[in-house]
Amino acid sequence: MVIGLDAGGTKLLGASLDHDLELGPRLRHSWAGEDRDATLDVIARAVEDIRAQAGEVGAVGLGVPALVDWSEGVSRWSNHLPLDHVPLRELMAERLGLPVVVDNDGNAAVLAEHRQGAARDSENAVFIALGTGIGGGLVLGGQVYRGAHGYAGEFGHLVVDHDGADCPGACPGRGCLEALASGRAIGVAGERAARSAPDSPLGRRLAESGAVLGQAVTELAHDGDETARAVLADVGRRLGAGLTGIVNALDPDVVVVGGGAVAAGDLLLDAAREVVAARALPPVARAVRIVPARFGEEAGVFGAGLLARELL
Ligand SMILES: [Zn+2]
Repeated sequence: MVIGLDAGGTKLLGASLDHDLELGPRLRHSWAGEDRDATLDVIARAVEDIRAQAGEVGAVGLGVPALVDWSEGVSRWSNHLPLDHVPLRELMAERLGLPVVVDNDGNAAVLAEHRQGAARDSENAVFIALGTGIGGGLVLGGQVYRGAHGYAGEFGHLVVDHDGADCPGACPGRGCLEALASGRAIGVAGERAARSAPDSPLGRRLAESGAVLGQAVTELAHDGDETARAVLADVGRRLGAGLTGIVNALDPDVVVVGGGAVAAGDLLLDAAREVVAARALPPVARAVRIVPARFGEEAGVFGAGLLARELL
């Protein structure tokens, strides 16, 4: 038995993973702006909680939304959590008394989708996670590609609009894909659309609750609200613009889209597929598939568990 944890920008997900690669009871914690020490406390407590239910645990895998020095297990820089220059592997191993492996969350997720999920038959796959931000991971030649230091696969910081809006969080970039097509970007676009269509279900949601989150846009779109559907199609086209550059550069067999925002499904992905079909280099566009993650938002937890198993 091992434990996989996926620390996202707004929440921590965790579960045990058994010999048959079945995930045990899930744990979910929402972050509330904890500082570095409190963040580490939450992660350690999550492991202890899962351990209390799962029984004997041999290792822990931890995915974080950060540039992780893979060989050292050090989180060097994070756009969304206070994890700059934190020797996570060493700190957690000491605290938990267990072997710990630390990786970028997107790398963990692409491993899951490659081994058991939507990229199972692919030697060259791109994973992109639409959450608070946009995470990514890359399989090249059947192996997770981490780059020279462990920092590769940050597709969220692919510049789509050279003079665009400031990237949210600590990224110094502008017009990054993350600023345009993340789960948070769906909420921002949804709020704008709600203001200009106050009589739509989306507009009424804004009036009732004072804010619109990406989740509400998706929910209303599934219920048939045309305003919400138009928001998802618009964000899907932005995603498609980013994917066009990615597939032209990498020629993957498959692009797997995960993260919380993939709950929007084809309402988002069809718009992205249309843009890629129209704008990517034709042979590349014809060859690539754009599919939802098999593991949905649990790809990171599953992948972190797989990494932990490799330690045993
Ligand atoms: Zn950025």
